[in-house]
Amino acid sequence: MGVYSQICPCGSGSSYIDCCERIHNNINLANNALELMRSRYVAFVYQNGDFLELSHHPSTRSNFSKRKTMKWAKSVNWLKLEIISFSELTEVNATVLFKAFYIEKGKIEFIYEHSTFTKDLGHWTYFDYLSI
Ligand SMILES: [Zn+2]
Repeated sequence: MGVYSQICPCGSGSSYIDCCERIHNNINLANNALELMRSRYVAFVYQNGDFLELSHHPSTRSNFSKRKTMKWAKSVNWLKLEIISFSELTEVNATVLFKAFYIEKGKIEFIYEHSTFTKDLGHWTYFDYLSI
């Protein structure tokens, strides 16, 4: 039992082992930026800071603090990921507009972000975000 037998928090309806866990174990298995985006959301839910770091493009990785992010991710209760749009711009560039809902200090909050993704070393990575 434990998280492995659970339905994947990304909202696919599959179990975690058949879904984002595969990508957490091998980032090359994310077939597109949307799959990477979903697996990054699940990494927040399961506090997998190593995967968040690995899946962050090296050139913007300095914007990411694993320690601070994990401290915050642990302090909230994640509710769901809502994908609003997914655009593949080129073979190596894509964007995902999403909302990620959570409860913080008893209130429902959400992150609303238009994330950009790019390929690095043959696999998808989170690059940055656009203003909305
Ligand atoms: Zn999943």
